[in-house]
Amino acid sequence: MVIVMKDTATADQIKAVEDKIAALHLSVHRVDGVIRTILGAIGETSKVDTREFDNMDGVFNVVRIMEPYKLCSRTFQKENSVIRFNGLELGGDRIIVMAGPCSVESEAQIYEITRHVAQAGATILRGGVFKPRTSPYAFQGMGIEGLKLMRQAAQEFKLPIVSEVLEPSQIDLMYPHIDMYQVGARNMQNFPLLKALSTIDKPVLLKRGMAATIEEFLMAGEYVMSGGNYKVVLCERGIRTFEQITRNTMDISAIPIAKKLSHLPIIADPSHGTGKREYVAPLARAAVAAGADGLIIEVHHEPEKAFSDGPQSLLPDQFQRLMEELKVIAWAIGRTI
Ligand code: PEP
Ligand code: MN
Repeated sequence: MVIVMKDTATADQIKAVEDKIAALHLSVHRVDGVIRTILGAIGETSKVDTREFDNMDGVFNVVRIMEPYKLCSRTFQKENSVIRFNGLELGGDRIIVMAGPCSVESEAQIYEITRHVAQAGATILRGGVFKPRTSPYAFQGMGIEGLKLMRQAAQEFKLPIVSEVLEPSQIDLMYPHIDMYQVGARNMQNFPLLKALSTIDKPVLLKRGMAATIEEFLMAGEYVMSGGNYKVVLCERGIRTFEQITRNTMDISAIPIAKKLSHLPIIADPSHGTGKREYVAPLARAAVAAGADGLIIEVHHEPEKAFSDGPQSLLPDQFQRLMEELKVIAWAIGRTI
């Protein structure tokens, strides 16, 4: 059971609710958000009458949630969450497109790609500087130096940036240079990382693990929210199946399902979802048609020379064409891009 306090609730009113929860032999999970405090009553709550809390001073509403994920469930919040940062709204009418290289490789490379994606209408620059590679001998990323180059390029074209964080110790290092932290598929259940990100004030782009069920995916979002960081954006990026032709199987159905079960925004990554350039645009179009709040797409001007994920990177003119097509689909479903 979750008890949401009014934004005007006093410390005494919050304390009175906490005492009542304790008196019912339940444990209290308190989250002091920027706007309001939320008290989770954990334990055997099925026999508790929610009206006992409804009538208390300072209480906004009381919700009984049957799903294992609570804060991110649609039962907890009926309206879609809109994540606001850097003047953008993710989860509103406008579809947000994040684009850029898989990895930042050099000053010239990131500048060139940023110029292309900005001109084509991308809203956020993506680029990895800490890379989770299958082989320890593969390019591991440029680190903070790469992030600074990315920031420089992004600033020139007035784009916020998103980049992957691999471990808790990188959070502070990256903080001054980025606008959104990406948690990669391989780290979706890295609980120390999720907990560390749960106490910061920047949004988290949480990618679905390649073998994660939708429920496990939402539970990972719950980890971030449980520490008070409600700025969580989900990302469907394909799952492992028996199919060998594509790198992953893009689970388009996860988009409307996550939207039904959760109020969090969800975007799609057709680059990792397919692993092949020729399938990126069709799956991007399908994801938007299915209700995705945004896309994250890899773009490279010289994909044959890319340090990572060249085969799935769109060429700049392909990306530009896709943006034009997406405008028509967005219009058809009452959204903008
Ligand atoms: C990436 O975005 O480059 C990446 C490594 O993605 P994922 O975690 O989805 O594999
Ligand atoms: Mn990649």
